[in-house]
Amino acid sequence: MHSSTDGEHISGAEAICGVHELESLTGQLFRRALEHEKGAAESIRISVDLVPAESIEYAQLPPLRTHLVGDYHEGREVAQKLLETAGVCAAACRRAMSILAQGAAPDGRSMRGAMLVDSETGERLERDQARGVRVSRMDLTAPAREKLQEALLIHGLDNPHVREALVLAGKVLCAPGMVAELCWSDDPMYTAGYVAAPGVGYVRFPHLKPVGEKRGGRAFFFRKENFDLQLVTEYLEKTVVLFDRIGRIDG
Ligand code: AMP
Repeated sequence: MHSSTDGEHISGAEAICGVHELESLTGQLFRRALEHEKGAAESIRISVDLVPAESIEYAQLPPLRTHLVGDYHEGREVAQKLLETAGVCAAACRRAMSILAQGAAPDGRSMRGAMLVDSETGERLERDQARGVRVSRMDLTAPAREKLQEALLIHGLDNPHVREALVLAGKVLCAPGMVAELCWSDDPMYTAGYVAAPGVGYVRFPHLKPVGEKRGGRAFFFRKENFDLQLVTEYLEKTVVLFDRIGRIDG
């Protein structure tokens, strides 16, 4: 589901379900688009595709932990260090953060999807800088969802923001040539964000932007050598990934 008002992204959601669950699921997605805290969306798109069972890839979610920070300045500083540990060059991190902070789309608003960034130079690699690349076709199996909810609940983190961002990041981490991911929300009241990387897992920061800030976004850092835009885009947008195992969840 993708919803917007005046061309501005309001909310998006993904799900993989059985045919018999379609009706109740689409009802939930409509409600989400209409009851968003940014206001009821004026335009809602729901698209449904048949997924052959044999095309599904199964994977494990990355481990999750929270790094407490006092404010978004500290959050961005620690996120920068973590991205560097994951193999992103300092200049590329700074450039991506500054682009996200200014609104990564050409009109200074948030992009609808993510930017793809060269982890050495910070050069943007996506074809369309307004749309970016939208990660799609990923979800949890019902038993994995139940386990994840239980584990997150212990730490007071069982909410759709965390669950969906973790699943999205889990798929991104499986992409070929992936180095790391940086995200903060475009929801004005949701200041948290994360860094995710293979070997690092998914690290949440309660603050990566100031309260009230509408500009958010995602940067996916890739190694430029052997980078194949077509292959990466196809993987992120089309390959169906179901998480049937969760990772360790820490507070
Ligand atoms: P959200 O976490 O939903 O607040 O989204 C934060 C930002 O991430 C958005 O402004 C988009 O730029 C980007 N984004 C949202 N959904 C996706 C997606 N499915 N794939 C790639 N980027 C996304």
